[in-house]
Amino acid sequence: MAVVDGSDPYSRYFLEPRSTADLADRARLIETATSRCHTLVPLIKEIGTDALFALRRIGRALDASRGDTERSERISAFFDHCKTNDLAMSVAQTDVKGDRSLGPSAQPNPDSYLRIVERQTDGIVVRGAKVHTSCTPNTNELIVLPTRAMGAADSDWAVSFAIPVNTPGLRLVASPYGSHAGSEFDSPISSQRLMMETTTLFDDVFVPNERVFLDGQHEFAGPLALAFVDYHRFTAISYKLPLVDALVGSAALMADMNGISRAAHVRDKLTALISYAETLRALVESSAQRGTPDDAGVFVPDPLIVNIAKSHFAHGYHHALQQVQDLAGGLLVTAPGGADFSNPDIGPMLSSLLGGRDGIDGEQRIRAMNMVSDLTTREFGGYHAVLAIHAEGSLEAEKMMIARSYDSSRVVTYARKLAGID
Ligand SMILES: Cc1cc2nc3c(=O)[nH]c(=O)nc-3n(C[C@H](O)[C@H](O)[C@H](O)COP(=O)(O)OP(=O)(O)OC[C@H]3O[C@@H](n4cnc5c(N)ncnc54)[C@H](O)[C@@H]3O)c2cc1C
Repeated sequence: MAVVDGSDPYSRYFLEPRSTADLADRARLIETATSRCHTLVPLIKEIGTDALFALRRIGRALDASRGDTERSERISAFFDHCKTNDLAMSVAQTDVKGDRSLGPSAQPNPDSYLRIVERQTDGIVVRGAKVHTSCTPNTNELIVLPTRAMGAADSDWAVSFAIPVNTPGLRLVASPYGSHAGSEFDSPISSQRLMMETTTLFDDVFVPNERVFLDGQHEFAGPLALAFVDYHRFTAISYKLPLVDALVGSAALMADMNGISRAAHVRDKLTALISYAETLRALVESSAQRGTPDDAGVFVPDPLIVNIAKSHFAHGYHHALQQVQDLAGGLLVTAPGGADFSNPDIGPMLSSLLGGRDGIDGEQRIRAMNMVSDLTTREFGGYHAVLAIHAEGSLEAEKMMIARSYDSSRVVTYARKLAGID
């Protein structure tokens, strides 16, 4: 986990990728951590370092446009602070956004996007809110990024900075979703794991100059948002891998316990699930292999493949759930609870009658069923299902990036040749 390169050892998450091999290692690190956390990414280093890499790149571009080094120095100082102290970071990018068809300055409520309400000699004051901010109650620092491209009229909304989570005026309203965990028997994953999101309120928060990265330079809002996405969607597809593995494993396990492994329709469904999961894995690997260096030699994963991977995952997710649920059976939502199995009056009877194929007793089968139910049908399953569609950008955001990243000149030239035009 630690990088030992002559300086003090530091967490590998902070290693800026200098090669395609570094990108592949980062993907493996994120996959392994998520796997150990039973399909939930820890997200206290991954997303923060995605933002730090993006800030570094855009900070250089901003400084180059002004002929100074001010923002790069601020960003580097903050990067080193997080790295040296091994801090946990959240990233607040998504604004509440009000009317989605309008930009920040055209909103009926000017606070629909986080904005600068006052400029002081030693800093800025910001007001508004960000939503869906993951893990904020568990982190030290909150990094704030703009959500979208902005025009000149949106300058007050073009803002990026970092603050400790206990900064005065910063208020975290945690979502209660997923907080009703059952017992370890009934909810084997969600009774142990929870990712908490907050609605993150900025009630006139003062941010000192040394922590301000963007304050009005609207032309850099879009590039910063996209630079973050370049890294964060790669992180996302890496941490989807344990989840798709869990779905394939669940389907195979339930098919075996139910004694249906050799049925033709079961083989069809397992093959479809394997293809779904392994296509994603191949795309993660390919996006790292096809990574390219930016102006400072820091490698960026191929955005075309990253977005195809994320789109493949998100579009196939609910169909994959259907296949797993189909093979498991209705006990996913009707099985007796852990207390019934430990009741000496009925437990032995349940264990005998709810078994599957020879060798699988009722308790084993219901434990497996409960894991699959946790993953696919209960509150935790619902959380993963919405996370699949929306987190790290919704379906349309990926579609836009695929269109934007694909250079069609090669295929148009080929088509012209086939048509005999050239
Ligand atoms: C579990 C979870 C964790 C998350 N963690 C974080 C986090 O840590 N930090 C963070 O910053 N964000 C986080 N997000 C936010 C995530 O990136 C957003 O959910 C995603 O970008 C979609 O935004 P939204 O939820 O506001 O939905 P919306 O943008 O409102 O999308 C709803 C629908 O409206 C459509 N739509 C939106 N705008 C337009 C438009 N202009 N024209 C036409 N159609 C439009 C969309 O395509 C979609 O179909 C998280 C989300 C989830 C679900």
